[in-house]
Amino acid sequence: IHALNRIKRKIREIKDWPKTGVTFRDVCPLFEDPKAFHDAIDLLRDRYSSYQFDVVAGVEARGFVIGAALAYSLGKGFLPLRKEGKLPGPNLSKAYQLEYGSSTLEVQNFCPRRGLRVVVVDDLLAKGGTLEAACFLIESCGGTVVEASVLVELSSLRGKEVLEVRGWKVFSLLKYD
Ligand code: IMP
Repeated sequence: IHALNRIKRKIREIKDWPKTGVTFRDVCPLFEDPKAFHDAIDLLRDRYSSYQFDVVAGVEARGFVIGAALAYSLGKGFLPLRKEGKLPGPNLSKAYQLEYGSSTLEVQNFCPRRGLRVVVVDDLLAKGGTLEAACFLIESCGGTVVEASVLVELSSLRGKEVLEVRGWKVFSLLKYD
C-alpha cells in the first residue's frame, strides 16, 4: 500500500489534454522518480515471478520502459510491439481504433514462436484497443498471452471487458474512474 501510494503520487493528472473533456494520466514523472519507478517494477516482478512465461512484450513507447525493466528483473526476453513502419520485416500488422483516430502496431515475424508464453505490458489501459491489438499480434505470431498488464487502468472506459471477452486476462496496479 505504501508503495502504491508512492506510485500514485507520481502520476500527473492533466485536465483537458489532449482534448477538452479528457483527463490525461501522465506516468513519465513516475519513470523519472527512482523510488517510485523501482516500486512499480518490483510490484510487477513480485506478481510475475510465480508465473510460467518466456518473454515480456512491450507496447511502444511507454510499454518499452516498463516491459524492458520487468523482463530484465525476471531474467526474461523482451519483444517490442512497435508503431507501423519502424521494424524491418517480415512483420505482422494490426490496425486499431484509439479515442481519436486510429493506429497500427507491428510485431516481427521471422522466427517460430509456437508455444511462447507472453506477458504483454503497456503504461495505461483506456478503451482497450491498443492492448487488444497487442494481444492479437502475439497470438497471430504463435504465442500465448499469459496476461496483459498495465500500471494504470481507466475503469470507466471498460477496456478490461474488451480484453476479457476475448479470453485475455488483465492486471492493473492502479485504477482510476
Ligand atoms: P486504449 O487503446 O484506448 O486503451 O488507449 C491506451 C493507449 O493510449 C496506451 O498505449 C496509452 O499509452 C495511451 N493513452 C490513452 N489515454 C492515456 C492517458 O490518459 N495517459 C497516458 N496514456 C494514454
